[in-house]
Amino acid sequence: MAPRISSHLINRNCTFINQMYPPIAFIIHRTAGHVNCQQLYDYWQSTCISSHFGISYDGYGYDPHDIWQFVNLWDGSGANCCPESGHHWFFDRGGNANTYTITVEVCTPNTNNQGLMTDAQVEALVYLITHCLNELGIPLDHGANVYWNDYEDSHTWINEHGGVGMHRDVSPHNKRMCPGDPYYQGQIDHIISLVQGGGVVTPPWEFNKYMEQQFNNVWDSSPFGRHSGIYTGCLQAFTNGKLKVAVCPTTDEIHTVDWGGNPIIYQYLSNGFHAEYVNGRTLVYGQDGAKIVT
Ligand SMILES: [Zn+2]
Repeated sequence: MAPRISSHLINRNCTFINQMYPPIAFIIHRTAGHVNCQQLYDYWQSTCISSHFGISYDGYGYDPHDIWQFVNLWDGSGANCCPESGHHWFFDRGGNANTYTITVEVCTPNTNNQGLMTDAQVEALVYLITHCLNELGIPLDHGANVYWNDYEDSHTWINEHGGVGMHRDVSPHNKRMCPGDPYYQGQIDHIISLVQGGGVVTPPWEFNKYMEQQFNNVWDSSPFGRHSGIYTGCLQAFTNGKLKVAVCPTTDEIHTVDWGGNPIIYQYLSNGFHAEYVNGRTLVYGQDGAKIVT
């Protein structure tokens, strides 16, 4: 079969529900032992940790082209907690790295992640990365960059807008061999070039359907409906370039009155932003308190 994604969602209470905040990095792992997606699914269900996706190894009863999805793209999975010293500077952002990474586990029976991915796994991974970049607006129109990871110069395809990287970029001490040989023998470089050669062009900062989904998730449970203008204001600010950083709602709207008794609506957003809607205008405030009038 051609590569495809089939849904095998684990218990959603084991994920970071509605927490996926751009800029986002797609992170490649290898399993060092688990050989197929059924094993991964069972393991995630029993431990309540997870990856978003899995790709089986050839010859263990499951087709590598049948990519299993365990976690929604708008929920965080549990594979990339706690960046270690020597991490790539993208993870200086801190907090729970699971809320800004999408993760795949590529199965290998080798418990040291030695040996390369199979041809079918590479085809599946190229398909999967392309799919996720398009869905989430993750850019990969940039080359690799090099950083010191406490052991060696390491290279990755994550920049300040997000991109594609590996577990070793998050945890270079304990997970420097994830994904292992595919990194050291150039297979990851080859996979990136295949994705880029496939014509994936996802402009950074696009206020895409994914972020609309994040607002939808809040609206669906909101008593206030969807008419405050905060979403519309954020969308406009992205379109006209005033807002450079992607924002998603982290709370429902809060409806109250200001000191003068005038109605005011505000909402907390990802990346330390918040927005106010006053007198028909949306004001977005950055982490540093700077105000953006949309
Ligand atoms: Zn890993």
